[in-house]
Amino acid sequence: AKSAGGNRFELADPEADARAITRHGLTTALPAALDRGEFFIEYQPLVHLGDGSVRGAEALVRWLHPQHGVLGPDRFIPLAEHTGLIVPLGRWVLEESVRQAREWGERYGDGTADRPLRINVNLSPCQLSHPGLVQDTVEILERTGVQPDSLCLEVTESALIGADNDLLKPLRRLAEMGVDIALDDFGTGYSNLANLRRLPVSILKLDRSFTQSMQRFPADPVDLKIVEGIVSLAHSLDLAVTVEGVETGAQAEQLRILGCDTAQGWYYARPGPPERLHELALVDATG
Ligand code: C2E
Ligand code: CA
Ligand code: CA
Ligand code: CA
Repeated sequence: AKSAGGNRFELADPEADARAITRHGLTTALPAALDRGEFFIEYQPLVHLGDGSVRGAEALVRWLHPQHGVLGPDRFIPLAEHTGLIVPLGRWVLEESVRQAREWGERYGDGTADRPLRINVNLSPCQLSHPGLVQDTVEILERTGVQPDSLCLEVTESALIGADNDLLKPLRRLAEMGVDIALDDFGTGYSNLANLRRLPVSILKLDRSFTQSMQRFPADPVDLKIVEGIVSLAHSLDLAVTVEGVETGAQAEQLRILGCDTAQGWYYARPGPPERLHELALVDATG
């Protein structure tokens, strides 16, 4: 007769299976996964709030794991950061997405929109402190022929809190070349707003939590005031404001009225394959 204990091992529950994927298993599989080309990138459009045009896209990495299917970055980026694999992985993401931006430029660049599509790439703090960052970026831009001002590197606010000059130096050099630096997840890191002047950033990416609070109507008046304050401070420092996580038209409208410049979210498009961005940019340029 089967005991309760015996039963435990006979269950074929795919969800329990998925939960059983250990950090250890994924961590040890990471280097080979990079060699085998198991990573791929989805692109999510960045839309101008004023006229609704597609201005570019953020590159978001995924892992097509041979047993477990598609894994999101939250599942493996922390592991890659822990082992240092984030450096070659991040370099691959940068090269692949800049190459993709080059292709958009060739196919749709000047004819459809009068500006090239921009590409936003996330940078882990480990990449920031890696000495090869500036040189790698320069080489990738030269190899692909993409202009530095078509590239935006996103760094989280928390990665730059208390950053010393050594950490800021590579970002300054990239900014001097014309690469935009965006402060990601802004508003969650409790950084000193005056500190912003010290950082070589040109874009603030407002954290999704602010967008979420715009879902309620009327929105929380305190949140409205905070966003209004951030936008006016950002603009007075010559920074553009991007909002993420926009899921409804009402949110988009509220954030537009508050003066935000660019938006990103499911309301416009979910992250998807590069061809999808071709379509969106094309529709946008012709319609
Ligand atoms: P993030 O940079 O804040 O990226 C935005 C996340 O919000 C993405 O999750 C995106 O799919 C999701 N998102 C977009 N629109 C909406 C929306 O309307 N509603 C909601 N609820 N979510 C939305 P994803 O792709 O799972 O990425 C998670 C995080 O992983 C990213 O957060 C980023 O920090 C990190 N990441 C992604 N790709 C890379 C990479 O190549 N390198 C590094 N270092 N980190 C990456
Ligand atoms: Ca980001
Ligand atoms: Ca620029
Ligand atoms: Ca973000």
